[in-house]
Amino acid sequence: IIKFDNVVKRFGDITVLDSLNFQVQKGEKVTIIGPSGSGKSTVLRILMTLEAINEGIIHVAGKPLWHEYKDDRLVPASEGHLREMRKEMGMVFQQFNLFPHMTVRRNVTEAPVQVLGLSKAEANQRAEEYLDLVGLSDQADKFPRQLSGGQQQRVGIARALAMRPNIMLFDEPTSSLDPELVGEVLTVIQRLAEEHDLTMLLVTHEMQFAKQISDRVCFFDKGKIVEEGPPEILYTSPKEERTREFLKNFI
Ligand code: ATP
Ligand code: MG
Repeated sequence: IIKFDNVVKRFGDITVLDSLNFQVQKGEKVTIIGPSGSGKSTVLRILMTLEAINEGIIHVAGKPLWHEYKDDRLVPASEGHLREMRKEMGMVFQQFNLFPHMTVRRNVTEAPVQVLGLSKAEANQRAEEYLDLVGLSDQADKFPRQLSGGQQQRVGIARALAMRPNIMLFDEPTSSLDPELVGEVLTVIQRLAEEHDLTMLLVTHEMQFAKQISDRVCFFDKGKIVEEGPPEILYTSPKEERTREFLKNFI
């Protein structure tokens, strides 16, 4: 459902993604691990259309993401095409990125109303459904600042789910949380992984968690996949020295 072919991403002189080839199948749960600066967030930000690519092509759900067909020719994507493609995906950020001036309910209903054109009543019903799923039905009238970090992140998850995306992207969803709040967020993500046939692409340093939920773990370094495989194999018998070095610090 996601396919990167020879994707290059540069920021000025630095090459962040170096001819990256990468795929995620429909329904698959994939975790990206790797050192700081290896391009993990960039992969997710490119998918969310927050960053453009310099070379190569990406397909999402069978359609080119950063390109579109005009008269049978592949041309750079228009804003309208990007807007359509964005509906395939929902993203949960490290820093929550909630709208601070909106209630929890409004945070969840805003995009379904503005982007999908749902009525307020329909959107409120959806908000109820997804806030219930993340265990926050009783917090709908509060503002983000009145919630703990773990609760805010669960709102972030409900907000992404309310768009009913086919693909969920998580960028270190627990790394700005106090340790005692990590569990409640991981539990929600794990439940999603087990009970929904969502495709999930996750960046995390929570290695044990990644092992529990992932079909496959990809080790990134310097904008390339060094090694990938099922977690039980990658963790216990990595082939590459760089993977071994990295895992040593975490497991
Ligand atoms: P971390 O584990 O620290 O989150 P990461 O693997 O997510 O790291 P990225 O955020 O993808 O790494 O960044 C990859 C490289 O791209 C880094 O060297 C970073 O400094 C650079 N970079 C990212 N965004 C920008 C930007 N907007 N402008 C310039 N350089 C950037
Ligand atoms: Mg990052």
